[in-house]
Amino acid sequence: MNRERTYLDHAATTPVDPRVAAAMQPYFSEAFGNPSSAHYWGQQAEEAVEKSRRTVAQALNCAPDEILFTGCGSESDNLALRGAALAQRREHGADHILTSPVEHQAVLHTAHLLADHFDFDLELLPVDQYGKVSPRDLADRIKPHTAVVSVIYGNNEIGSINPIQELASVCRQRGVPFHTDAVQAASQLPLDVDQLKVDLMSIGAHKFYGPKGIGALYVRKGTNLIPTLSGGGQEFGLRAGTHSVPLIVGLAESLRITSQQRNADNLHFQTLRDRIISSVTTNIPNTRLTGHPQQRLHNHASFVFEDVDANTLIASLDLEGFACASASACKTGDPTPSEVLTSIGIPRQLALSALRVTVGRTTTDQDVDAFLDVLPQVIARLRSAPGRT
Ligand SMILES: *Cc1c(COP(=O)(O)O)cnc(C)c1O
Repeated sequence: MNRERTYLDHAATTPVDPRVAAAMQPYFSEAFGNPSSAHYWGQQAEEAVEKSRRTVAQALNCAPDEILFTGCGSESDNLALRGAALAQRREHGADHILTSPVEHQAVLHTAHLLADHFDFDLELLPVDQYGKVSPRDLADRIKPHTAVVSVIYGNNEIGSINPIQELASVCRQRGVPFHTDAVQAASQLPLDVDQLKVDLMSIGAHKFYGPKGIGALYVRKGTNLIPTLSGGGQEFGLRAGTHSVPLIVGLAESLRITSQQRNADNLHFQTLRDRIISSVTTNIPNTRLTGHPQQRLHNHASFVFEDVDANTLIASLDLEGFACASASACKTGDPTPSEVLTSIGIPRQLALSALRVTVGRTTTDQDVDAFLDVLPQVIARLRSAPGRT
């Protein structure tokens, strides 16, 4: 089969940039040492890890010892939430967790686990119709015994961007640690932790053209965490496990490249995204954009379609050669509607029709043209099919 295929699912994952793969290559079989070893090989590996830490720190405008390498974005979210919640309870007796209903499951399920098994009191912040949290609502709900607040930066399902700096300021005034899940935002939005005023921030390399299986957590000096993965003293005693040097080098290199070309990437993404949004909302009847119309990730378009089943839609688009997503990638095959969509007031049945289209660096005008040609036909066909759900 030689039919062209078009990848429009960059929110699920991105390909490794060839420059990143090249930077990683020497650390598999040549400079293979364990950074914890005292000899030549160990030192060589340790140098690569510490150079990578400095690169990441530079991109986030923080000190190198405020960066921890983890196994993925999900692990960063886990360490931030569990680590801060448990440390705040130990130090201050704080047992209240505030987060939003539109978080990635790595945050939301972790918060529920802390409530169900560790006796934390979990409260979900209200969100508006676009899935945004208001600083005012946060100020109304934060308590003297709030242990940690976590709000997503750029939403993976609906693209909306939260006012992180304002939310973090509310927390700083009350002395409560603030975490943001920036895993989806990192490919496009400013990551200066000083400006953002965050205490904890999660990123994961595979969302910005780096390898899978590696993440980082920014931890502001003075923010105490109890480790979730214990063992050797790696990562300042906060994340045990022998460093994956090639993956760490890959994360740093992909973040360096992303920071460097962010503005150009965003311009490219935004042109394509806006064409998709305007074409779909004008040419396909009974369609709604989900998430904020302007304050959204530059590469992200998401919709719901009346009388369409998302799983059938994704399968039909795949047959036509287009790879898109319904809600978040982790939900494939799950018949329950996305909590993110129901929490912004989308009715259950409509929430089962969600389509997410996310463009990337290599997406072309022609790719988008071809997609915009096919999508209305596919939707019309599904709507007229007998026995449709
Ligand atoms: C992808 C994603 C995660 C999970 O990151 P992994 O590296 O895949 O574990 C967490 N939060 C958001 C917003 C994401 O988009």
